[in-house]
Amino acid sequence: MSQPVRTESEDAPKRKDQFATRLIHFGAEVDKTTGASSVPIYQASTFHHFSLEEPPEYDYSRSGNPTRQALEDYIAKLEGGVRGFAFSSGMSAISTAFLLLSAGDHLICTEDVYGGTYRFLTVIAKRLGIETTFVDMTDLEEVKAAIQGNTKAVFMETPSNPTLKITDVAAITNWAKEHDLLTLLDNTFMTPYHQRPIELGVDVVLHSATKFLGGHSDVLAGLAVAANESLGRRLKMLQNSLGSVLGVQDSWLLMRGMKTLQARMEHSEKSARKLAEWLVTRPEIERVYYPGLEDHPGREIHERQSSGYGAVVCFDTGSGEAARKVLDKVRLPLVAVSLGAVESILSYPALMSHAAMPKDVRHARGIGDGLLRYSVGLEDIDDLIADLEQALEG
Ligand SMILES: *Cc1c(COP(=O)(O)O)cnc(C)c1O
Repeated sequence: MSQPVRTESEDAPKRKDQFATRLIHFGAEVDKTTGASSVPIYQASTFHHFSLEEPPEYDYSRSGNPTRQALEDYIAKLEGGVRGFAFSSGMSAISTAFLLLSAGDHLICTEDVYGGTYRFLTVIAKRLGIETTFVDMTDLEEVKAAIQGNTKAVFMETPSNPTLKITDVAAITNWAKEHDLLTLLDNTFMTPYHQRPIELGVDVVLHSATKFLGGHSDVLAGLAVAANESLGRRLKMLQNSLGSVLGVQDSWLLMRGMKTLQARMEHSEKSARKLAEWLVTRPEIERVYYPGLEDHPGREIHERQSSGYGAVVCFDTGSGEAARKVLDKVRLPLVAVSLGAVESILSYPALMSHAAMPKDVRHARGIGDGLLRYSVGLEDIDDLIADLEQALEG
């Protein structure tokens, strides 16, 4: 006996589903045509025009593809925005969003920004006539002092990488609105499970979905979400013109990863808290950076705007020699660039993510030769701690 196609019921309860439920029931979880339990992969570059008078909804996959669209609607729903966009990498999402600006425009950006974003702004955007002032975004007065007659936008990243500094998002967006500035925020470290910037007044949310959203170190992807229709239309135009869209197989894999976002983040965050607290008790560790620690300078602001502290813990072993010893001796984490996966990942910022930064600038930003970044995965936390303990003592 055939079942009726599932449709949105008109007398559906008004109560809004919680985040965990929205992760599973995001609108495209059941294929409307066949009832299949996952979004079909529409492996097609182009679409037949059944009638020239009525062009099809999708006509060419750079402009739109039903599999990618399902992902784009999914992230828009999770972030509370109106329109989502999927790109071939986080950098592709971020650089596309920067092209909302034009030659002659000025941008204020956090000095602790992701290295690839820093490179785009200081090399490419600069060449295109877009100027950037980098500021310490934990200091609102410094942000305000950076405004110029041609300032058009503010770019935030909180917590920042790798010293996990906190920007007061609502304070920045309130000030930005008074001056008609566009606000953008890289939400990679928190994900919409812990932090929803659009609710705090941000206009464009960006993600390296390669990290927690994908969650399995097997997909490279970027996402952008627009808070309103006019920005949505402008981003759509940029995405279609620049063309660095996410392929359909990767769109599907990303959705598969995102379904377990809350389960993964909850587990990893709980473990990260335990790891941070343990590291604080270790005599050989000079300093631990984690927004959940009592003495973290941004803790109070972070707690106002986020529902958790995330799964990344950074700590200073005191010297390059000590850091190398740990990297050599650890048995469990992957020693690699990247973060936010089922497996723990240990990175060495001085030689990996921040290698291009001049040494004195790097040191001034607290990224010393002994600093390590631990992205906590889903392993048993007591095993991870025992492993790190033997590496520190070894
Ligand atoms: C990794 C990362 C990016 C870049 O994303 P890709 O997917 O590697 O292009 C941007 N921002 C942050 C915070 C990141 O960690």
